[in-house]
Amino acid sequence: MQELLERKNGLHRSILIVDDDPVTREILGAMLGDLYKIGYAQNGIEAMDLIKRDAHTLSLVILDLHMPKLDGFSLLKTLHADNELRRIPVIVLTSEKWSEVQCLQNGAADFITKPFDAPQIIRARVEHSIELAEDKVIIHETERDSLTGLFNKEFFFEFAKKIVRMNGHKAMDAIVIDINRFRIINELYGRAYGDLLLKKIGGCVHQAVQEYGGLACRSDSNSFFVYIPHENDISQLIEQFIKTTQGVIGDDKISMRIGIYSDDDDSLDIQMRFDRAKLACRKLHNTYSTCYNLYNSELHDKELFHEKLINDMDKALEEKQFQVYYQPKYNIRGNVPVLSSAEALIRWFHPDYGMISPGVFIPLFENNGLIHKLDRFVWDQAAGQIRKWKDSFGITVPVSVNVSRVDMFEPKLGEELTEIAANNGISTAELLLEITESAYTDNSQQISDAVSLLRSFGFKIEMDDFGSGYSSLNMLTTLTFDALKLDMAFVRNICTDNRAARLVGIIIEIARLLEVPVIAEGVEKKEQMELLKTLACDIIQGYYFSKPLPSDEFYELIEKQQKENEYAHN
Ligand code: C2E
Ligand code: CA
Ligand code: CA
Repeated sequence: MQELLERKNGLHRSILIVDDDPVTREILGAMLGDLYKIGYAQNGIEAMDLIKRDAHTLSLVILDLHMPKLDGFSLLKTLHADNELRRIPVIVLTSEKWSEVQCLQNGAADFITKPFDAPQIIRARVEHSIELAEDKVIIHETERDSLTGLFNKEFFFEFAKKIVRMNGHKAMDAIVIDINRFRIINELYGRAYGDLLLKKIGGCVHQAVQEYGGLACRSDSNSFFVYIPHENDISQLIEQFIKTTQGVIGDDKISMRIGIYSDDDDSLDIQMRFDRAKLACRKLHNTYSTCYNLYNSELHDKELFHEKLINDMDKALEEKQFQVYYQPKYNIRGNVPVLSSAEALIRWFHPDYGMISPGVFIPLFENNGLIHKLDRFVWDQAAGQIRKWKDSFGITVPVSVNVSRVDMFEPKLGEELTEIAANNGISTAELLLEITESAYTDNSQQISDAVSLLRSFGFKIEMDDFGSGYSSLNMLTTLTFDALKLDMAFVRNICTDNRAARLVGIIIEIARLLEVPVIAEGVEKKEQMELLKTLACDIIQGYYFSKPLPSDEFYELIEKQQKENEYAHN
């Protein structure tokens, strides 16, 4: 019984027994002491002090009417008149029937008559009064989510804070549960199925807090917050929860991701605990199977670092901390490789962190719209560079720029790029656009439309990272583009994995049919280059020839190429 009660909300409730008679205090204390934390007061004044002190943690007062100093009646009246203290239920100890009505009028929750009934009756009355008072606080329609019956978010935080206070600030673990791809599930299977799913998961969550204590809510459309007393081995509990819940859902297409903040240090407030659990959950965003992630300080440091980069971006553009590097692409169809074009790749020289790779900041900027500003900067620089080389050498070295998936949603992208080309005195055909295949995987119709439009402006499109997604073949049939860039993963294995080499051969044959050249990037070794040449790959980009270079070093490459050309012609 004791355990059940303790676990119910993960707390030991407190009761104050107010009576001037030590024997009565002792009897009641003995009856209730194993279920509740008991405090004692000998008179109304002492009681009032304790009630005020423990206003947030006290669950019940048992009050004798006849006491010296301040009597029970006056105390009851004072409590009833106080907005804050009114929520604490009071059971009055009495031997006279006549006083009951008066007590009820003044807010008494119940009575215990002297001489006392059997202990179980007293316990039941106490428990009932507490529950009733708590339910009064808790169960308001507006405080519940109508679909799952769990709390809503606002009320959840309010009540969770109370629980922590009542619980003597015992540490709690914060858990965030998200349903993967919920929006798509709703679209594919209908809202009714989505609602059913939420109900099922909500039911499992409810059951878990019944068992372990604590409380839960639906925080927004597809996620739940759970707050439970700290567990040393939370993973075990979570694994059990996942197993049960997946059994209840009974559909392997549905998966969840779970972020956890588990710490026995109670100094961090509840909101922060959930922020950290959310962060741990967010880190799982690309997963399609059920999994969980525990927050750790490394994750926090990384998040702070990322936030700083996002904050620093505007200033960095102003202070010219970004530089565009150029990596050459070589045409290997002839006997000797010939410099044919370049890819513009951004570099950030940060005053505090030194050179930061675009692999770190590009994904951050794609999440918040900053990427478009940065890409515009790169496009403009690259276009200006094409013009400068044209002026210096009298030839065009076409430069490809990366167009982020986010840019593809800009309605005036074609006009914008055309304007950049015109402002720098080059044609649209001289600026090549690299679009990653994964953008197509995410949103094929949109990307197809945008690519056709860009081509109608005269731009050449290179399909980047080809073969990395799962819609590569599908894309070949619906999209027209001008060059195909093999995903680096193929090249990495080409000399060791026979299947990778054969696959590259097949892709190159398909490209032949479509009449587009194939570019292999990430070529580091001579053997890779030679194998690609025998497979009839057209263009090679990679450390084997050169790393991405600042523009002045690239200038020397063009110079060298021109000398070789002259030499070949002589
Ligand atoms: P990506 O477009 O696939 O670019 C190729 C990446 O491979 C570059 O990394 C390049 O430095 C690297 N690389 C080139 N040759 C080799 C090689 O032989 N071996 C290996 N291991 N790597 C090689 P980087 O510059 O760090 O860029 C990473 C990614 O960041 C790019 O992948 C691209 O998706 C993105 N990115 C870079 N610059 C921009 C930009 O201006 N705008 C946008 N939107 N994305 C950019
Ligand atoms: Ca690229
Ligand atoms: Ca690539």
